[in-house]
Amino acid sequence: MQWETVIGLEIHAQLATKSKIFSAASTAFGAEPNTQACAVDLGLPGVLPVLNKEVVNMAIKFGVAIDAEIGRESVFARKNYFYPDLPKGYQISQMDLPIVGKGRLTISPAEGVSKVVGITRAHLEEDAGKSLHDQFPGQTGVDLNRAGTPLLEIVSEPDMSSAKEAVAYARKIHSLVQFIEICDGNMAQGSLRCDANVSVRPVGQQELGTRAEIKNINSFRFLERAINYEIERQIDVIEDGGTVVQETRLYDSEKNETRSMRSKEEANDYRYFPDPDLLPVRVTDEDIETIRTSLPELPEQKRLRYINELKLTDYNAELLSSSREIADYFETALCRLSDQPSLLANWILGDLTGALNKSEMGFADSPINPEQLTGLLTRISDNTISGKIAKEVFEAMWNGEGSADDIIDSKGLKQITDTGAIEQLINDVIASNPEQVEQFRAGKEKVLGFFVGQIMKQSKGKANPGQVNQLLREKLKP
Ligand code: ADP
Ligand code: MG
Repeated sequence: MQWETVIGLEIHAQLATKSKIFSAASTAFGAEPNTQACAVDLGLPGVLPVLNKEVVNMAIKFGVAIDAEIGRESVFARKNYFYPDLPKGYQISQMDLPIVGKGRLTISPAEGVSKVVGITRAHLEEDAGKSLHDQFPGQTGVDLNRAGTPLLEIVSEPDMSSAKEAVAYARKIHSLVQFIEICDGNMAQGSLRCDANVSVRPVGQQELGTRAEIKNINSFRFLERAINYEIERQIDVIEDGGTVVQETRLYDSEKNETRSMRSKEEANDYRYFPDPDLLPVRVTDEDIETIRTSLPELPEQKRLRYINELKLTDYNAELLSSSREIADYFETALCRLSDQPSLLANWILGDLTGALNKSEMGFADSPINPEQLTGLLTRISDNTISGKIAKEVFEAMWNGEGSADDIIDSKGLKQITDTGAIEQLINDVIASNPEQVEQFRAGKEKVLGFFVGQIMKQSKGKANPGQVNQLLREKLKP
């Protein structure tokens, strides 16, 4: 039997506001436990929540960016359940009328492959607190700092058909929310968390199989592994004659397996109802237009422009549009070297990315800024230095030895383009290798490489390789 996988993701993005969704308490990460939860966050009697307008603006920004219908009237609802990290007894969320309706996102799961993933909805809600199981032996602590932190829950259609696609989608959401500056994207701090719904069905079957939901995955690597494990598990269950049950599972990254947490039968009945303390949120066309015009060019628009107008490869265009930082770097550099987008792309994604990764740095704190990099690349395109020497200059620049021109001067790296000087080098090498000359003249083309190598070595890499090739061929003619 051939099996097909179906995946839908629910992603919680923490909105990057200074204060909470319904109170003035701070959302800053890392404060002493229980110093940032106020009476509203705890739902103490007699207090009233007040909606943070910035949260609404951020949700609309996201909606516009995924080409979604924006709810003109959205309603907050109470989701009732008991848990120690939710002393209020209910979470304020949105149920029937979310702020963001149906939208879509283009993903690139592999080089040159694009796929549109449907987004069902995105709604606003507050986060709960956090149970700490590792602080007091035999006891559990509760830190309520996170209670009331604004979240945007983004629910996809079951449109992904492999772990790779699911990861490509999650990465795209991760990059988009940072691009439009609504979430800091810090997964280690929990600013973006994924729940993966996974099912399998025989190839060709229309009806969806029964799904399991894997909760709270906080890295792309674990997302891919958890899904792949779950696919295998479900196929095994069915092939052994069993049936997959609808349930919530947890991924254990140490054992690389998913485990049952609770089944649908014992699932809570949340008794959602509209929160009587909060008014419906009304959004006008004008509100939406104001936000639309304030949005920067989006990653997908950039990607297409890089391919169509700048003629970059699909792969380079995808990478350069993958984050605001890298796109800003590329475009700042492009202003200074507008006729060389490919050369720029190759250096930014090659040597520069390599060096930054090695030092665990981002583009924003690169020791080589766009101006300095274009200073170097200009000297390649005007033939002052070869691409190979440029790598040496790059390294010196990285180490703070000055501008490209300073380094080329002080190290004497200027390319030799003087025909007379190059001819001299060629004559010397030909004179000292008569045997190879004979071989070449007898038709052994490969020997040309030997000569080029010798000449480049004699010139310490500074002879212009194009000129060397051309002059050498002339001189070697019988
Ligand atoms: P619930 O109300 O239980 O949360 P939803 O209908 O909202 O369920 O779906 C939650 C997520 O599960 C969505 O991302 C959806 O695309 C996905 N999903 C639904 N059915 C399936 C299925 N059979 N296989 C895989 N994913 C599914
Ligand atoms: Mg759901």
